[in-house]
Amino acid sequence: MSERAVPYHCPYCGDVDLRPHEVAGEDGSISSPPGTWECRSCLRAFSLRMLGMLNRPTTRR
Ligand SMILES: [Zn+2]
Repeated sequence: MSERAVPYHCPYCGDVDLRPHEVAGEDGSISSPPGTWECRSCLRAFSLRMLGMLNRPTTRR
């Protein structure tokens, strides 16, 4: 299981034209923060973050 999830659809407009979000550092270098993506369709940048593991559902009576 990979640690970095790759989104297939924009969560805002549903488009599939997603790329890693690139930000320019103070020294001018371009970097892509982990889990950040941008949609070229609606021009939104967003991040994906795992919040934690869920407990396995238990059967309740
Ligand atoms: Zn979008």
